[in-house]
Amino acid sequence: MTVDIRTAGQAIDYPVPLYSYRRRYTHEVGFGEISLGGYQPIRVESMTNTHTMDTAATVEQCRRLYEAGCEIIRLTVPTEKDAENLRNIREQLRRDGITTPLVADIHFSAKAAMKAVEFVENIRVNPGNYATGAKFSSEEYTDAEYLAELDKVREEFSPLVKKARELGVSMRIGTNHGSLSDRIVSRYGNSPEGMVEAALEFARICEDESYFDLLFSMKSSNVRVMIHAYRLLVARADAELRHAYPLHLGVTEAGDGDEGRIKSAMGIGALLEDGLGDTIRVSLTEDPVNEVPVGFAIVRKYNEHLQVKGEKAYLAVNQVVGHGQAVSGHTALPFNPYGYARRSSCPMQAGAASIGGDSLQRVETQARTSITDPDALRDEILQRLAPELPEDSIRSEFVNVSVGCVEDVHALENLLASLEGVRDRIVVSTVDTGLFPKLLPLVSRVRLDVVEGESLGTGFIDQLADSDTVMEFCFIHENSSIMVPAEVLCRIAAKLKAKGLTRVCLSVVSSQGLFATRRLVLELANAGIEFPVAVRYRNRGGDRSGVLIESAIQAGTLFCDGVGDLIAVETGLKPEDEVSLAFNILQAARVRMSKTEFISCPGCGRTYFELEKTTALIKQRVSHLKGLKIGIMGCIVNGPGEMADADFGYVGSGKGRVSLYVGRECVVENMPEADALDRLIELIRQNGKWIDPA
Ligand code: SF4
Repeated sequence: MTVDIRTAGQAIDYPVPLYSYRRRYTHEVGFGEISLGGYQPIRVESMTNTHTMDTAATVEQCRRLYEAGCEIIRLTVPTEKDAENLRNIREQLRRDGITTPLVADIHFSAKAAMKAVEFVENIRVNPGNYATGAKFSSEEYTDAEYLAELDKVREEFSPLVKKARELGVSMRIGTNHGSLSDRIVSRYGNSPEGMVEAALEFARICEDESYFDLLFSMKSSNVRVMIHAYRLLVARADAELRHAYPLHLGVTEAGDGDEGRIKSAMGIGALLEDGLGDTIRVSLTEDPVNEVPVGFAIVRKYNEHLQVKGEKAYLAVNQVVGHGQAVSGHTALPFNPYGYARRSSCPMQAGAASIGGDSLQRVETQARTSITDPDALRDEILQRLAPELPEDSIRSEFVNVSVGCVEDVHALENLLASLEGVRDRIVVSTVDTGLFPKLLPLVSRVRLDVVEGESLGTGFIDQLADSDTVMEFCFIHENSSIMVPAEVLCRIAAKLKAKGLTRVCLSVVSSQGLFATRRLVLELANAGIEFPVAVRYRNRGGDRSGVLIESAIQAGTLFCDGVGDLIAVETGLKPEDEVSLAFNILQAARVRMSKTEFISCPGCGRTYFELEKTTALIKQRVSHLKGLKIGIMGCIVNGPGEMADADFGYVGSGKGRVSLYVGRECVVENMPEADALDRLIELIRQNGKWIDPA
């Protein structure tokens, strides 16, 4: 399975199973008393946000992280003094019986790194700013200049590698999309290719020094960029380097609340589903202790694939879970794993809304009230559709109503009569092939839930021929273990297409919705069928956090891969939470922006202002601005590269001081924090992006 990489024009294989789960086996790397990679469980880590010179506060936060179950704790080390203070922090923690491995987070300072490596189990180096002193300029590099700078990097980085090797300390080469070196940007741009090359340059130096205790990370606040960068790294590093090194996964500056959890789960989960990832960190603009349970909730399912055999955890590497069986003779991927392109589908009108083609990805929810209680059902439908709100509001665009028998159809007709004005936003679903044709004249969309063993004969298909209604065929894969939904749906789609039907949509309901839908898209591509695909997530009984995480992984990954023309969520959440979940998933995948996106960092010892409080204040004032991306960074260590992803930036530049950005450009430097929010709003206004709140 090969894909052309944009910049180099070379074909690059993506060496992971895409229709089934199998964890990538990696070189095991030590972290003091524990290790990761190999057959080890996927670890959960976090990072302190105290000043590392503040021993008491840092020790206290480490203790709270330890009590929350955090397996690896990272501390920022801006200077040699901070590095030296790691000794005190470590001693105190060890005295208290806290043996959690510590990681020193290094940016810029080789001196801080050389000292910190003495007191930690792992050292994180950012190849974007280590030994290069990035100026964030856009100057061009000649080949000679490029190589000269690389030599300088080798000269400064090699002593750290040697020292880490001698001390038995492992190292993470942690690339960040927002802080690539000028040299890398000059050649590759702010791109996944640049992120990967930056890491490989450092890894080559490590291997030249016979140092193999490495792991990688490729973080970005843009979930799609992050996914593409990790995938590309795996493809290139595994082909070139001596070992398959473990991966630390994370979405940087994910924000807070549901949005932060959904973004993190989507980026991390997409890669875990690919079998990638050996340790994770969920970055939230909240108390770091909150990150730990979210992390464990994300990795739980994957760690359950580990079986204990004898004394050693054993990963059933040959055990394949998913829809990979019987994919033979197909070599093309149904999407590009290294870059975004929306799957091509034919557009169709369903009432007032279009689906497929270039249309917005639509949002549908399921009414829970039975059709046998029409008044309550009507109220629920109106609550979900919220017809009183403006067109582009966050509300369900379609509501699904289930019918099971002829009496239900009569009740439906009465219900629709009472919903004049919104009836073209009602979808009716049934499992009854006898009822299905009768429903077509009533609404703009009808769904047939196909179960295993169903065969739709010519007589049935002939009844559909003259309908203008959009017909969805959905395979319910809850208990099926033999038939592959994709093959059944593709057969149905081919029959419909052969009969000249064009207003057809397809979907799968499965606990493995990602693999099943991917597989469906593959079959459709091979058959040359471009019917739109609805991404359906159903989990009626799960707890709130589990639903957020799993829906972000199962549905969100598909949208990141360019698959999906509609999202339908069916959960036990409150109707408004369900709608907001669907829009949050589309927003995190950057396919449909419906509100302001806050790219806020989690904070660390470099933070210049109270992040949580400031983020809340900024949110209060600008949350109503649809589609705007606002970066809120505690410092500029990640560089204006991160600002390229944001429309406006609010960045700590010193104690009580803030710099403001428009795109990548710093337009206000070092202003007093007290006036910065008003000035930010003024900038938004000057740039024509301000709308007064309703
Ligand atoms: S951007 Fe935030 S988390 Fe990153 S180094 Fe600066 S303060 Fe720390």
